[in-house]
Amino acid sequence: MKLNDALTGLAAYDPKYLDADILLSANENPYDLPSEIKDKALQEISKTNFNRYPDPTANTLRELIASKLCDIVLPTLHNSQKPYESFDGITRDYIVVGNGGDELLFNTFLAFGGNGRNALTSVPTFSVYSIDAQLNSTNIIEIPRDSNYVFDENSFIERASRDDIDIVILTSPNNPIGDTLNYDFVKRLLARTKALVLIDEAYGEFSGKSVIPLIKEFDNLAVLRTFSKAYALAGVRLGYMVANPKIISTYLMVRQPYSVDAVSQAIGRVVCNNLEVFVPKILTIVRLRDELLEKLSCINGLEVFESRSNFIMVRAKGAAGIWQSMLDDRILIRDFSSSDYLDGCLRITVGTRSENDAMIDSLAEAIMKGV
Ligand SMILES: *Cc1c(COP(=O)(O)O)cnc(C)c1O
Repeated sequence: MKLNDALTGLAAYDPKYLDADILLSANENPYDLPSEIKDKALQEISKTNFNRYPDPTANTLRELIASKLCDIVLPTLHNSQKPYESFDGITRDYIVVGNGGDELLFNTFLAFGGNGRNALTSVPTFSVYSIDAQLNSTNIIEIPRDSNYVFDENSFIERASRDDIDIVILTSPNNPIGDTLNYDFVKRLLARTKALVLIDEAYGEFSGKSVIPLIKEFDNLAVLRTFSKAYALAGVRLGYMVANPKIISTYLMVRQPYSVDAVSQAIGRVVCNNLEVFVPKILTIVRLRDELLEKLSCINGLEVFESRSNFIMVRAKGAAGIWQSMLDDRILIRDFSSSDYLDGCLRITVGTRSENDAMIDSLAEAIMKGV
């Protein structure tokens, strides 16, 4: 047996899950679907024929996503503030669904990467990108942010505009920092490169922002979204990409034929038809995040990074000890302190109010003890 050479030195993605009472490590939604929505989902599932293959391209679900796209993408905006006209003309031909956003990320490197190709990103960022790049024999060029994680727009555009770049991938809000890209920056970037530009908006619903409207103007833009975070379906595996139909047909070409099963499609349709149930929850998470930002910034010895997502990154001396002390209190947050570029960093998912209160107490105590 001899492994594919591309796998040399590769480590499997590790979510670093551990058992605890309060789970604030994976940026999941703290609120499960209400039971009336679960009941509707079960009804919808029971209507499907389990013996038949699912609709391979999930046409009904794609149509639903396309027809409600502005509401799905910008749930925190008041209806009167929503730019519905900017989403006009985005039909199901502009959408592909995947087995989680993760499948679509992999397929991005499969379709547009390959031997001798270069993907450009800014670090720190989501570690799945570099794993997918390696799996698809794609070289990844990482431009580091400065020591306070400020993103330098101009130097990024300068590098992206050289013609050796095949894929540009950026995250907004960024994971694990939490900040968003400026709309005008993305527009300037798109005007300067012919590469595929993938903007990963997995947490976009919490930010009240999206670059999806630029898709009509730029045929090299793809925007990734997922139902895992704001729409509380991490366990179901459903994500989607919005892009020009030419890009979408490429994704349809490389995907596994039935990667989005009939059960996930049924649950996705129910969520799209009941968006109003999710809006107050998303608004609550945003409000709790803003409260948490304020409370965390009052803790001495803790550096807090501004976030427009459902998590907050903090930096402290002795981060690994703090993380362990919190785990001893059965609170799990994400320890990034030994990851590249993330010395001293911990990422905390916004939980329910009582989870956040317990987390703050445990964190403040760990810092006071000087662990
Ligand atoms: C969670 C996440 C995704 C996609 O998650 P799925 O559960 O596979 O939909 C994509 N990008 C980033 C940055 C994420 O954090």
